[in-house]
This record gives sequence, C-alpha cells and structure tokens, in this order.
Amino acid sequence: MTLESDSGEARRFVETLQAWFDRVKRPFPWRAAYDPYAVWISEIMLQQTQAERGARYFIEWMRRFPDIRSVAMAQEREVLAAWEGLGYYSRARNLKAAAVAIMERHGGRFPESMADIRSLPGVGEYTAGAIASIAFNLPEPAVDANVLRIFARLCDIDAPTADKRVKTRIADLVRALMPADSPRRFSQALMELGALVCGKRAECGRCPVSEFCVAFANGTVAERPAGIVAKQYRRIEAVAAIVVRGDRVLVRRRPEGGLWAGMWELPGGTVEAGESPESAAARVVRGETGLEARIGECIGVVRHGYTVHRVTLHGFFCDIDAGQSANLSGGCVWTPIRDLPRYPFSAGQRKLLERLGWK
Ligand code: SF4
Repeated sequence: MTLESDSGEARRFVETLQAWFDRVKRPFPWRAAYDPYAVWISEIMLQQTQAERGARYFIEWMRRFPDIRSVAMAQEREVLAAWEGLGYYSRARNLKAAAVAIMERHGGRFPESMADIRSLPGVGEYTAGAIASIAFNLPEPAVDANVLRIFARLCDIDAPTADKRVKTRIADLVRALMPADSPRRFSQALMELGALVCGKRAECGRCPVSEFCVAFANGTVAERPAGIVAKQYRRIEAVAAIVVRGDRVLVRRRPEGGLWAGMWELPGGTVEAGESPESAAARVVRGETGLEARIGECIGVVRHGYTVHRVTLHGFFCDIDAGQSANLSGGCVWTPIRDLPRYPFSAGQRKLLERLGWK
C-alpha cells in the first residue's frame, strides 16, 4: 500500500492526478466561480444523476432560483416542478428546507464551517465534505461510492467498501493526501477520475495514475471493490388512468411522507396477478371516483425506474358518462389541463403527459 506508507509516492500521486485534472476537467457551469450556492445545488443534483444531464437541470434551476432567498421563498410545488425528472424528490424538499434554515440561521449566507454545513437538511458527510472542499477550499475529504471504489483499487483492498473499517481507512487516506493549498482541485480531480476513467468498468489503459495502482499491478482490478453483488431489480406493471371532463383532467397529490411525497399523478396503481392492464385501469377509476369507466385507447406504454424497481406503465383514456356524478376519493381533483406544466409529476407520468402534449 504505497500511497499509505510512502509520503513521496503520495505527493507524486496528488501532483499527477491534479495535473491530469487540469488538462481534462469538464467545463461545468458550477465550476465557473465556485459560488457556494451553486456548488451546493450541483452536489445535491449530481447525487444519482449523471453530470451532463445534471448540468442541463442546473442551468434551468439557476434561472428560476438565482439565489438562496429565491429557493426559501418559493412554494414547495415550484421547487418540485423544477426538480421534475431528476427523481429522489426528497432532495428537492430538503433543498427548500435548507434554504429556509440558511435564511433564518445564517442571514442568507451559505455557512462555511463543516459543522454548520453538515447540519443543513439533506446534507450528509460526503456532501458537506464536497461543499467545504470545492466551495471553500477547506481540507475536508469527500468520500462517496466513487472515491471508495477508486481507493479500493488503488490500495487493492480485499474487503467490501461497505465495511466501516474500510470506509474509515479510505477517508483517513483521502484526508492525509489532501494538499493544503488545493483541496478544491484535489476533490474534483478524484471525482473526475471516478467519472471518466475509474468507473464501474475501469479503463486502466488511459488512467493517469495507473503507476500508483496496486490492483492494476496485481491484476485484481476486476475483483475490486470486493464483494459487490449485482442489483436485483423488481419488475412492476402499472396503469395510469386519463379521465377527462371538458378541459379538466383527474389528478391527485401524493400523500406526505411516502414515495414521491407532494408530487402529482394521474390516478393509477399496479396490475394485479391475473388482471389485464385494462381491467386494472377500470378498477382504479372505480376506486377513485365510484364511477364505472369505459377503458379507451392506450396512449402509450412507458418504462421508467426508481431505486430497484423497473416499472412498465400503461396509460389509458377512460370515458365516464356525463350523467354520472363522481364521488372523488384519495385526494383526486379535477384540474385544468393547461395548468399541468406547473404541477410536478414523477418521470413515468411526465412521459405519458408529454405524449399528449400536456407537459
Ligand atoms: Fe482505476 Fe485502473 Fe486507474 Fe487503478 S489503474 S485507478 S483500477 S482506472
């Protein structure tokens, strides 16, 4: 474990990595001025989101919410709508709560100490380290799954990175390697290495630090990190009912506290065993409105994923006779179709509404 035991090697590693970063770094908008607000938003957005995709959302977000105050003052629905399509919507709700906390506790200035950053809603140890090092150039390690993977290979660690001792060992090493004059550059260089070269499939042939990599020397890269088990996905078939009355459509707000809390959706549910998607749509409408519906045209089938679920979603137009009076339940409301762009919907539902030209 040369990097851990030889300070000369460690210094050369840092210099080599940072020189490579200076040559290849991608010109993301949050790298323009390292404004703490911009760095914070980018770090939250890039959790679970590819950087190029995150950059598109980031530009639009900064146009809608140019500063902390604008996030604090916005309605939760506006914040969720700006987040629409990024998934993991608790991140957006936490952004709003953190913006309010920064206004109340810090007079609207993003806090600079690690303890204050860490105390903000939605900011964990990694994100706090990333903000401290990138926005404020403080020597705080930012250790996420990418950094764990890189160092599991660099040090050829034969134990899972989920192991607390492995995490501590790597965090200690990152802290020891952190150059006093350039924490910002070092943190980003590691992130860039994980994104561009030492990803899930390592591209050792074009790695700038392969000479320091013990797994590369030992021929064990494919086995590092140790103990990674392939994810098991759960497949779900679901329906969404499009019930229109005049210029309005039936939608409902998801309850607080659960998945996609505060987001909006078309009435729907999962297709049960032995049931056709059409029957499931009829059952859903009956349950939500007390009405019998004629299931019409399927407007499309979209596929989307969240956590370990892979959902196939069927969208159906559902006709209800004008004479029937609805007894709405489950939070369903008739909403003008023209207002739908202002309502936050999850990715699958949004894809259906886009097919109708309603989003
Ligand atoms: Fe990762 Fe391969 Fe570089 Fe080692 S040599 S750090 S495994 S890309």
